[in-house]
Amino acid sequence: MDRETCLSFDRQDPLAAMREAFAIPDGVIYLDGNSLGALPRQTVQRIDQVITEEWGAGLIRSWNNAHWIDAPARLGDKIARLIGARAGEVIVADSTSVNLFKLLAGGLRLQPGRHFILTEAANFPTDLYIAQGLIELLEGNHALRVVERAELERALDGSVAILMLTHVDYGSGEIHDMRRLTSAARKHGTLTLWDLSHSAGAVPVDLNASQVDLAIGCGYKYLNGGPGAPAYLFIASALQEAMRSPLSGWMGHAAPFAFEPDYRPAQGIARQLAGSPPILSMLALEVAVDLWLTVNQQEARRKSMALGDLFIKLVDETLRDLAVEVASPREAQIRGSQVSLRHKQAYRVMRALIDRGVIGDFRTPDLMRFGFASLYTRYVDIFDAISCLREVLITRAWQRPEYATRLTVT
Ligand SMILES: *Cc1c(COP(=O)(O)O)cnc(C)c1O
Repeated sequence: MDRETCLSFDRQDPLAAMREAFAIPDGVIYLDGNSLGALPRQTVQRIDQVITEEWGAGLIRSWNNAHWIDAPARLGDKIARLIGARAGEVIVADSTSVNLFKLLAGGLRLQPGRHFILTEAANFPTDLYIAQGLIELLEGNHALRVVERAELERALDGSVAILMLTHVDYGSGEIHDMRRLTSAARKHGTLTLWDLSHSAGAVPVDLNASQVDLAIGCGYKYLNGGPGAPAYLFIASALQEAMRSPLSGWMGHAAPFAFEPDYRPAQGIARQLAGSPPILSMLALEVAVDLWLTVNQQEARRKSMALGDLFIKLVDETLRDLAVEVASPREAQIRGSQVSLRHKQAYRVMRALIDRGVIGDFRTPDLMRFGFASLYTRYVDIFDAISCLREVLITRAWQRPEYATRLTVT
């Protein structure tokens, strides 16, 4: 595989023009869109307009005149189209962690007599921590049942209230069979709660077709909503009447502006709102979601699989005997939009790569993650990133002492 061939893939890529919609700095090969998506150019203008016109000139009138008050539900309906949900089943609010807390708490209330939240050991830490904190708050009536991936189906029984899983593993990129696990859970009366943080914008999701009960997801990864962008949550319509939020704030009240002394939940998904939405961040996310709505999801998936396959092929062809190992599924069908490589000095190697403009990230203890955001990653970027990695490994550039000191965020 040579560079010219990769350039020819880019020329044939039906999504190639999308890259122009993003502000990728010169000299940077950005393979970390799975952690923080790149900046859509339109976000800059839109946020400038929101600040100067809607906030600056419109002031408080903009809650109505500029439709700020509708933003959580409006964005929710847009994201619903990306994840196979219906209008009114998704709302944008809070962070992924907070939404997980709300849905776990609400879900447990629907499952009296069932004591377990079933999950896997490799789940993203915040998901485990949030469940642990909620269980502590509920004073020991519940427990986490944590098993290995292969044991999940066998660990389901009538005592499991909720099966809580991340659809695409953040470390390896391996995809769970959502339909199969959801259907297995249903047979036991177990609710499913899927974390879509590495799915939306990366791999197609059809929540309704899979009969999923609950889901949450992140706005700042493949969706490109900006650092700390608001997150979203999904509740299947059949469950909405019964689901309550433990954060019964005024924005989720049936009549927020009636200022009644007692809480009455709003109809439907709106009761999952707690307090005032962060409008600047919401409207930045909306620009990015609107971009996604112009993209054919299947096309995006085809490209992300091809980018991953190309990456693995180049690893096999050019990094033999350099002590790296592919730590993601080789089969594109069960791999999300990332490939992780294992190397004993992964941290130092990633630091050296970042110094050379190839931005991926490190996950403890020995993983280098490379994400392939299909809207702005080019085939030639994959070629150049692997060439750079080869150079770092062959010259042992990672041995430089400054790469040994740990930074908290890379
Ligand atoms: C990124 C990610 C989160 C992020 O949670 P925050 O509340 O935004 O920090 C949660 N779950 C998973 C699986 C993630 O990958």
